[in-house]
Amino acid sequence: MKPDYQKIISNVYADILKKPNSGKVPNYIPEIACIEEHKFGVHFTDLGLNNFGCGNFQEKFSVQSISKVFALSFVYEKLGEKLWKRVDVEPSGNPFNSLLQLEADHGIPRNPFINAGALVICDILLEICENPKETLLEFIRDVAEDDEIFFNEKVAQSEMDHSYRNTAMCNFMKSFGNIHSKPNSVIDLYCHLCSIEMTCEQLSKSFLYLANGGRKPTDRRQILPYLKAKRINAILLTCGFYDESGEFSFLVGLPGKSGVGGGIIAILPQKYCIAVWSPKLNVKGNSYRGMKFLEEFTTQTGETIF
Ligand code: GLU
Repeated sequence: MKPDYQKIISNVYADILKKPNSGKVPNYIPEIACIEEHKFGVHFTDLGLNNFGCGNFQEKFSVQSISKVFALSFVYEKLGEKLWKRVDVEPSGNPFNSLLQLEADHGIPRNPFINAGALVICDILLEICENPKETLLEFIRDVAEDDEIFFNEKVAQSEMDHSYRNTAMCNFMKSFGNIHSKPNSVIDLYCHLCSIEMTCEQLSKSFLYLANGGRKPTDRRQILPYLKAKRINAILLTCGFYDESGEFSFLVGLPGKSGVGGGIIAILPQKYCIAVWSPKLNVKGNSYRGMKFLEEFTTQTGETIF
């Protein structure tokens, strides 16, 4: 029997609200350090386009690394398998901005979701698009079926002013020949990619193509071939949660992606997408309440990919 998602979401949301909200809002990007830390939103959309939201699900927040999934989808579709010569598909088991690992791996990032991997994806976007920022936004608006999605220029600038580590990684990869454009242009595009703002509702709707074998369930358009969607979901499962991807899989059991803005998107292939937002992060950089919510949600629905 199909679980009563709406009831489970409402109950789990109410339970989590009663418990202490642990963790910290990250302070290394000043523009997102000032976010109100008690915000908490959830939005669920299934392939039958049933929708349900709780709390601050219609409020925009900085999706940060979640948008790396859109950039990867776009680039993978255009480049095909040769993409994997420049970025690997292995979990990193290290912090998302580790320089140490990049040195050991000779400038080939472990996966497209750590910062180094996303910088390579941005470099490719600069090579294959005339106006990469516009192209990215168009792609995201297309999968979201919503034109009200924008970069937050203040957040992008704030990140650029503090992007010492990302710049170091970019220069380092350039020395290995794995960055082709000017590092400054790559950083500019990367910071804009991270600055995209969306609501939980927009997020859960926009990820439906990955729950549906690469095809949008609304107009049936194939955004990615099935094989590519399958592979992106695999990378989401093994690499979507920094060096806590194993733990997320262990506790929640779904492919997904988090961002330091406190958002998490999780996907149950063939069924639904669910987005959660709560800005306080645990020590590994994942939303504290987001993880708690999703753990309890999949436990109560009795559905995971396992
Ligand atoms: N813009 C953030 C950074 O580069 C993204 C981090 C994240 O959400 O994982 O550090």
